[in-house]
Order: sequence, then structure tokens, then C-alpha cells
Amino acid sequence: MFISRSKRYRSTTSAVSSITELLLAEGAEAVLLRAAATAHPSETGGLLLGPRSSQRPWVTHVLEIPSTRPSPAHYVLPAGLTHPLIACARRGDRRLGYLGEWHVHPVDTGPSRTDGRTMRRLASHAPNPPILLLARLAPGGYALEVHVWSGVRHHQLSIIRSGDLPGDPRTCSRRAT
Ligand SMILES: [Zn+2]
Repeated sequence: MFISRSKRYRSTTSAVSSITELLLAEGAEAVLLRAAATAHPSETGGLLLGPRSSQRPWVTHVLEIPSTRPSPAHYVLPAGLTHPLIACARRGDRRLGYLGEWHVHPVDTGPSRTDGRTMRRLASHAPNPPILLLARLAPGGYALEVHVWSGVRHHQLSIIRSGDLPGDPRTCSRRAT
């Protein structure tokens, strides 16, 4: 389960409903998998950032924002951190923008109904629907999947691994506490 209280952040994904794949930088994937392993058995999550100019979503930065009350059954994105963290990342690299959110399922389940509701609500505030990157604990380790909700429509994107964004500067502090 995933609850985000973030309000309106312009998603930089363009015409997401027609997009079928997402690029995921190896550095971003490593951050996510490390966060998942560290938080286990609790859920954790945060924000996905990438270049604004990309024609298709390219996740180059995964920012972890640990829940203030970690739980194996749900992740709540703490309020009030999304905007400052995006601003911080953009001060470091003007190419970056908000692409969506991610969180971990420490069990082998796909997006919950709450996840869908949360993402549909975020999409209703954004010109382009944000993406949800989910790490679910499958028998062979964490498996990543990407979901998009646009109105009542839900679809999954395939993931293509990529290198990191060239000239990547420092990252912002991700800790909520
Ligand atoms: Zn979830």
C-alpha cells in the first residue's frame, strides 16, 4: 500500500499513455535496490527524477524518503518533502524533473488498490500522469515493474536498463529524519 500526500508536481513524462517503455539508469536502480534491502522487511519509497528533455521517461535518480512510521504493509510518503527535494535536485542539475514515485513491496504482490487510487489522484493534478516504479520481492530477489494510471486506464511499461546521466552531480539528502 502506498499513500502520497504530494500535491501537484508537473510530471515531465510526455504523453505517458502512449509510452510503452521506460529507461532506468543503473545508478538509480542500485540506489533503489539498496534502499529496499536496508528497509527490509519494511516498505520504503520515494521519488523518481530524470531529465526533462527526454522523449520517454528516463529515471536517472531515485530519492529515498523513508516513512516516518516504517511498516511491512504500507509506505506513506512523508508530507512536505517532495518539493524541497525536487528543488534541491534541480539546483544540482537543471536537467532533472519529477517523473513519479517508487516504493517497495517486501512480498510478491503487484500494485494494491490503494496504489492505484494514489497514482490516479496524482495523475489528476498533473498534465501528464506520473509513473509508479514498484520493487516486489519475488523468489529470485526484488523484481522491478513500472505502472501508469491515466483516468481509469492502467498499463505497465517495460524497463530498459541504461547508463547513468553524464555529468551527474551530487545528490540531495534523502532522509526524512
Ligand atoms: Zn504498494
